[in-house]
Amino acid sequence: FDTALAQGRRAYELDRKHVFHSWSAQAKIDPMTIVAAQGSYVWDGEGNRLLDFSSQMVNTNIGHQHPKVVAAIAEQAATLCTIAPPHVNAARSEAARLIAERTPGDLNRVFFTNGGADAVEHAVRMARLHTGRYKVLSRYRSYHGGTDTAINLTGDPRRWPNDYGTSGAVHFDGPFLYRSAFHAFDEQQECQRALEHLDRLIAMEGPTTIAAIILESVPGTAGIMVPPAGYLAGVREICDRYGIVYIADEVMAGFGRTGEWFAVNHFDVTPDLITFAKGVNSGYVPLGGVAISEAIAATFADRPYPGGLTYSGHPLATAAAVATINAMEDEQIVQNAARIGADVLGPGLRDLAARHPSVGEVRGLGVFWAIELVADPATREPLAPYGGTSAAMNEVVGACKTNGLLPFVNFNRIHAAPPCTVGDDEVREGLAILDTALSVADRHVVH
Ligand code: PLP
Repeated sequence: FDTALAQGRRAYELDRKHVFHSWSAQAKIDPMTIVAAQGSYVWDGEGNRLLDFSSQMVNTNIGHQHPKVVAAIAEQAATLCTIAPPHVNAARSEAARLIAERTPGDLNRVFFTNGGADAVEHAVRMARLHTGRYKVLSRYRSYHGGTDTAINLTGDPRRWPNDYGTSGAVHFDGPFLYRSAFHAFDEQQECQRALEHLDRLIAMEGPTTIAAIILESVPGTAGIMVPPAGYLAGVREICDRYGIVYIADEVMAGFGRTGEWFAVNHFDVTPDLITFAKGVNSGYVPLGGVAISEAIAATFADRPYPGGLTYSGHPLATAAAVATINAMEDEQIVQNAARIGADVLGPGLRDLAARHPSVGEVRGLGVFWAIELVADPATREPLAPYGGTSAAMNEVVGACKTNGLLPFVNFNRIHAAPPCTVGDDEVREGLAILDTALSVADRHVVH
């Protein structure tokens, strides 16, 4: 382990000299070194063990270093490391079958990409060519990726410096009762008003100009707002009425995260396209893709699809997906995520919310939960402003880390998103650390 720590120190020095970090002012960051990871835990540059309640970028759904996935990658590397996408390869064919068997409805074909953002780019391209229309609707409080179209569709502050207005993106408000844009009093009213708002927006924008609506089935980074019953079915109905393609972005919510293979399965709707990445192989090798309905696939039966990538269906990545999906099935990992959410993590977080005045709301399902921190429970003023951070939030996150928990943090929220493989005792350990950290948050609450 001492060697790993020494390597970690050297890595940090080189990082600060040569690595250019995403979304960051390069001189103002002090990144955490990770020297090892196993299951639900990571070890930092000082050798401290941290319970990984972030699943990194909410992608290690199967936990760190799952032996079956590691072995599958090694085996594939020994057999066939890479091959060009026009050629059939066994890993890609099998991964496509396993994914198609798990998507709802007739989403039977899979186009593979390198990650989530390019999955979104291709889904939008397919929708535009399929409909002959250009505009794409997406919600505020969403994230769809860091490439041009995907970042313009994104409804969070990361879009602002990247928005050149050429993407055809139009944003709308989705349902979020705790911070309702519709002055709604309950989920049913929120749902109805959010659908009326979307319908009105489409009428004003021109239904025949709109190619697609893209929606995270459960918005992730933006706050894990589980949609009210009927909302996604309502969106489906609106799309059908106007001939608009419904793209479900399941990059973060898919592959077990919500306790179902896909989050749309909770709501009994079938989109036309599903974008996925992250959990499909837990990010062990970069992979994403688009699951495509028969009708959209048929658009490109006789007419070429004008898009591709050198690594579409890369054998190492798709072999990792095959091993991941099979292990998740064999070890009932999706069921574990559902049970943990219903029996341990959900109740535990609700208990914390009841005891800590700094917790405005907890919400989520499966192993996908947000803790919304407020400075004032009465006004719901967030503990950090939208798009920003605060000394109070930094203190709370610091308390998590010094006590051995690595959370996912966004603005005024802490997300509890452990791997789908997490055990009951690990969740209890995480809840106890959150309890301590929330006491720090409570000190910042105005009474
Ligand atoms: N879509 C959603 C819902 C995401 O959460 C993300 C990443 O967090 C993306 C798309 C982009 O994926 P990637 O970072 O793999 O490009």
